[in-house]
Amino acid sequence: MNRKEFLKTSLLGAAALAAGPALATVGSELQSKNRKSSGKSELKISFQEGIAPGRSLAEKSDWMEKHGVVGFEPGGGRLWNRVDELKGLLAGRNIKVSAICAGFGGFVLAEDPAVKAEFDESMKRILAAAGELGSVGVIMVPAFRHQRPCRPHTLETRNFLVEELAKMGEFALQHGTTMILEPLNRGEAFYMRQVGDAAAIARDSKSAGIRCMGDFWHMTGEETSDYGALWSGGEYLNHVHIASRRNRIMPGEDGEADNYVDGFRALKEMNYQGYVSLECGTRGDRNVTVPAAISLMREQWKKA
Ligand code: MG
Repeated sequence: MNRKEFLKTSLLGAAALAAGPALATVGSELQSKNRKSSGKSELKISFQEGIAPGRSLAEKSDWMEKHGVVGFEPGGGRLWNRVDELKGLLAGRNIKVSAICAGFGGFVLAEDPAVKAEFDESMKRILAAAGELGSVGVIMVPAFRHQRPCRPHTLETRNFLVEELAKMGEFALQHGTTMILEPLNRGEAFYMRQVGDAAAIARDSKSAGIRCMGDFWHMTGEETSDYGALWSGGEYLNHVHIASRRNRIMPGEDGEADNYVDGFRALKEMNYQGYVSLECGTRGDRNVTVPAAISLMREQWKKA
């Protein structure tokens, strides 16, 4: 039993003694629920398109299967033209499409109605294709820092975003998928930088089709705790990105800095069912650095 479980158990115990049998039952139910959920969460590793060694996507998929990588995260650019190609690629393999990485045109917070319309149109086409591929969701960012002119960072803009997401979330649900809000570090986007903020926006949209994610790379600069950040995603968290923590290369290539144990512990305690997907480059030989990253992730998951 770790310290947190100990505290939880003793607090429940003390409360139960004070309040009698009814609360004792609730307490023991809670504890058995927690026990059941702990250890149920598995590390499901996913790769973006460029991660695995190999000259073609078929070779890369062979490599992934051999190394127990069970998720594949393609880019969303013109995804609607790639549905058959990707279905064929993964048919008969133990690899599923995890999330779809962005690829939309325009942006939702654009002041120019034509740019906003471009977002709506392309996002809907990607969401429909993502649904056909059985994807967890399509990753989106409300506005990158370089995207101008952008609605100002005000309460009105947040309200506007929530209303737009409510509509897009319902569209996603109709296609059996979700739209995933990705908080980025301030260098890439100022608007939404923390997992808890993305989760609150998802909650306020009141659509089950709006979810959020955490990216260890961005979290390094924006969050005070991996553990707290991922927990703050709560029930809304349905995807995770990972990279080394200093240079956004393979986990392990930045040495001691590449510690994910606290974040993994949060995912285990939350009974997280999604993927942890590699989004990064490498400075070494992919045939060496990628298997090393997989081993490091598995070791740290075990430790968490
Ligand atoms: Mg990311």
